[in-house]
Amino acid sequence: MNCWREWGEIMDYIARINKLRRMMEDGGMEGLIITRPENRFYLSGFTGEDGILFISLDKLYLVTDSRYVEQAAAESPGWQVVEVAGDYLKALPDLGGGQGKVGFESRHITYDLYHKLAQHLEGRLKPCVSMVEELRKVKDEEELALIRKAVEIGDAAYRDILPFISIGVTEREIAVELERLLKVKGCSRIAFDTIAVSGIRASLPHGKPSSKRLEAGDMLTLDFGGVYEGYAGDTTRTIAIGEAPAYLRNVYQRVLEAQQAAIRAVRAGVPCREVDGAARDYLKAHGLDKYFAHSTGHGLGLQVHEEPAVGARSEMILQENMVITIEPGVYITGWGGVRIEDVVIVKETGCEIVTKAEKALVIL
Ligand code: ZN
Ligand code: ZN
Repeated sequence: MNCWREWGEIMDYIARINKLRRMMEDGGMEGLIITRPENRFYLSGFTGEDGILFISLDKLYLVTDSRYVEQAAAESPGWQVVEVAGDYLKALPDLGGGQGKVGFESRHITYDLYHKLAQHLEGRLKPCVSMVEELRKVKDEEELALIRKAVEIGDAAYRDILPFISIGVTEREIAVELERLLKVKGCSRIAFDTIAVSGIRASLPHGKPSSKRLEAGDMLTLDFGGVYEGYAGDTTRTIAIGEAPAYLRNVYQRVLEAQQAAIRAVRAGVPCREVDGAARDYLKAHGLDKYFAHSTGHGLGLQVHEEPAVGARSEMILQENMVITIEPGVYITGWGGVRIEDVVIVKETGCEIVTKAEKALVIL
């Protein structure tokens, strides 16, 4: 059970729900059904695995089964917990009440559930996309504190994994140890499968750790993050094993400078594509842009990848207290790869760099 939320903190939920209700009214809705787990948590603080939120213009219902009733009451004090045996939907007609439109998360519902809802709320269902996600793009102070903590744990785990890394250790051993460190230091789970790829395998931007052993002259890319109180960390560092050849060190320096150029471009009011362009243009000036196939970054919060995308085609404008990653990389098949990733918080005149782990090339 999650006991960290005190009564005073319910204020954040009230602010979120008030904003959501304004959006519902603008959309002509008198009810909204929330099925996406991250959105359910964002609005209610409920961490159980099963449950549906039903939000009307003046009431809040958390519908769940007997396994979670006590937990829901403790975690979500502003919500009326409705226990439903077996079929959640039996409670919905009572909750629905009036005749107005009822929104649902059209990208986060099974076909089966949609059909059942349609039977109960015939003609009243209105598909909605990204309503809660729209609110989640800009973080409040409580969220920022949790993200800083998740990233800080990542920094500490990175510091402690370095002595473990040496010639002969396998990628998988390193990934497992890094995940253990994230948990020992306070994360409830890993945010995504840890990436640990070395040598020519580092040309796989999202490669899986293998039984390959580290060799002298390898570059090792580690991409990792843990979840703290629901919020994800996400850090990438590339390390040289033994003496790094000059060309590897050169590419590392270029990627680092591209990453710093993108960080300098971050501030409220700037389109995301300009941040991407800052990294891409720098790599282009050094003939490396063709090896940089992914976006420069992504939003981070309850999910590892959320809005805003920070890519070449992203027209979204950065706003104060959005949280994004900056992670350019260079990947050359048969040669290897380098990626460096920090988490930053967008500010009015620049950004706060949350990740503190060393960025000068570490040679082990
Ligand atoms: Zn990452
Ligand atoms: Zn990332």
